[in-house]
Amino acid sequence: MELLLASGNPKKALELLQMLAPLGIQVLTPADVGGLPEVDEDQDTFEGNAQKKAVGGALASGRYCLADDSGLAVDALDGAPGVHSARFASRHGDDAANNQKLIEKLAGTPDEARGAHFVCCLALSDPAGQILCTTRGEVHGRILNEPRGQGGFGYDPLFRVHEPENAFQGRCMAELTAPEKGSISHRGRALRQLAELIPLHLGIPPITER
Ligand code: IMP
Repeated sequence: MELLLASGNPKKALELLQMLAPLGIQVLTPADVGGLPEVDEDQDTFEGNAQKKAVGGALASGRYCLADDSGLAVDALDGAPGVHSARFASRHGDDAANNQKLIEKLAGTPDEARGAHFVCCLALSDPAGQILCTTRGEVHGRILNEPRGQGGFGYDPLFRVHEPENAFQGRCMAELTAPEKGSISHRGRALRQLAELIPLHLGIPPITER
């Protein structure tokens, strides 16, 4: 069974590839199918953008296609940057500029008012462009005044985990190893839900029967 992953962000794709490996599905990237056309991420929800990317990738390639849309929602900014997380500071994917802008926007905000959550939505389309399932994962935290840690990507250096029951409570997302991050991240949580659903939709045995 092959599944095309419609993600052009290599760090995000790597996180998803590592987490999909136990399903025994061969994961293809856009480069493996000669590239995919750009999809305009113009929907106002993470679900909408993930579904649009999954359908676009499926129709362009004629394969099952998995796509994600993710971002950071900050309480004190009314949920911004939200679906605009990648281009918060203008140019798409300029992590340093995005983080600097976030630090400036929250300057003077006390710790207890710095609540935020990462969101990841995953959508799976069949080769004909029909959405089979969509999942959503979140992880809650607080935004730091200055970056910490060397791991992860995007806003990870500014995100301190704040979930009372979380094994990594108080740690910065960028201080976690990839497996540690995957065990608690929005993407890991969305993917574990999807991993339960994929076998049902693709007619392969569930993980527990392998
Ligand atoms: P997307 O490629 O449209 O899903 O944009 C996602 C953007 O949200 C990224 O460029 C990051 O700025 C941010 N983001 C999403 N997931 C993460 C994460 O796991 N850590 C840090 N930032 C993230």
